[in-house]
Amino acid sequence: MNVYDSHRMADTLAPAGFMETSNPEDADLVILNTCHIREKAAEKIYSEIGRIRQIKEAAARDGRQMMIAVAGCVAQAEGKEIIRRAGAVDLVVGSQNYHRLPQMIARVERGEKIVDTEFPVEDKFEILAAPKRDAIARRGISSFVTVQEGCDKFCTFCVVPYTRGAEISRPVEKIVAEVERLTEAGVCEVTLIGQNVNAYHGHDRDGRPATLAKLLRRLAQVRGILRLRYTTSHPRDMTDDLVAAHAEVPELMPYVHLPVQSGSDRILASMNRKHTRGTYLDVLARLRAARADLAFTSDFIVGFPGETEADFRDTLSLIDEVGFAGAFSFMYSPRPGTPAAEMDQVPQEEKSERLQRLQAVITRHQRTFNAGFAGRTIDVLLEKPGRLPGQLVGRSPYLQAVQVMAPSKLIGSIQRVTVAEIGTNSLFGVLESPVPVLAAAGA
Ligand code: SF4
Repeated sequence: MNVYDSHRMADTLAPAGFMETSNPEDADLVILNTCHIREKAAEKIYSEIGRIRQIKEAAARDGRQMMIAVAGCVAQAEGKEIIRRAGAVDLVVGSQNYHRLPQMIARVERGEKIVDTEFPVEDKFEILAAPKRDAIARRGISSFVTVQEGCDKFCTFCVVPYTRGAEISRPVEKIVAEVERLTEAGVCEVTLIGQNVNAYHGHDRDGRPATLAKLLRRLAQVRGILRLRYTTSHPRDMTDDLVAAHAEVPELMPYVHLPVQSGSDRILASMNRKHTRGTYLDVLARLRAARADLAFTSDFIVGFPGETEADFRDTLSLIDEVGFAGAFSFMYSPRPGTPAAEMDQVPQEEKSERLQRLQAVITRHQRTFNAGFAGRTIDVLLEKPGRLPGQLVGRSPYLQAVQVMAPSKLIGSIQRVTVAEIGTNSLFGVLESPVPVLAAAGA
């Protein structure tokens, strides 16, 4: 979501004359768009500000004003504390307020320091500037689109309900209009994003309620859309109509990221996850019954307060039972202000030892999953040039990177590719036919 938000900030600042640069020395404005999910997020931001402050001071010696802004969830959580601790920062903007950046920057240019972390009454998506066609094209053929923000679930380890606020969903037609703009500029794969994306509850043009499944079906009709994905889901919101969409919408990729966090019911209850190991497995069974070639990935937290060796083994056995195609795994680390931060903590060495064991099991399953593709012919959406001359990189339906020798004119098309070799991070394939089997409008 921060990638998407960063793009929208750049789009919103473009009419004021700002252009993106990857070099902070060239910048008149540096925005640190922060994520509070990261461990020690706030400390890392302060050390980054220290580095950028030196660039700001060098710019000032050259008679040039450089502004530093901190945005995102750390900005939301820390607020004016950031300016108190780091005087070089000019502007602190929360995750729901970045549509106001142009006005805030005008005030900073007049010498003000600004902190804006109130949850606004207006809808930021109504105000944000649309991306220009060339900006979309520069960002590639695959794009994120935020459809939902915030969370009402209050897992005891998580800051999202505090930093992103209550669940809100964008109206269907606004999302359709954004996706149409993207496809007209060459995008052919869209990933719908939200902290709780399958809790999406928007409205269609006639004011009727719309679920994520209904939204996906509508977007599948947009000319130029070849692939749809969504992330991140909660097991409790995996409704029957979303399960059915996996069976009936060919554009919806057979790959579901569904965080479980733990395989122990005791720990899941302590996390306030609102699902059990059994209900989670039921959800996967319903999805597999709808589409047999679905693959699953997940998130795991290791060493949550009170986790015993037996709880941890429940997590390992769940991974073996499901056979995940991949997973993100983290050692639990307390987030100030969350209930779990006040619970009895697992010693660091135990957490670290369990994480290594867990990651070894996940890697084994990931390798098995990838090895199953040897010799198979799969659809690959070609995305961009590879590292070697004449090589392109694309993605399989399961998000595996696939390297293939192919002409650049095939970027933005889906090609049949036979997998010849399985690498550590990519598959290597041979193009089956030089003729595009599907091509996006405008690509
Ligand atoms: S459902 Fe996800 S976003 Fe919401 S509180 Fe739990 S972990 Fe955080």
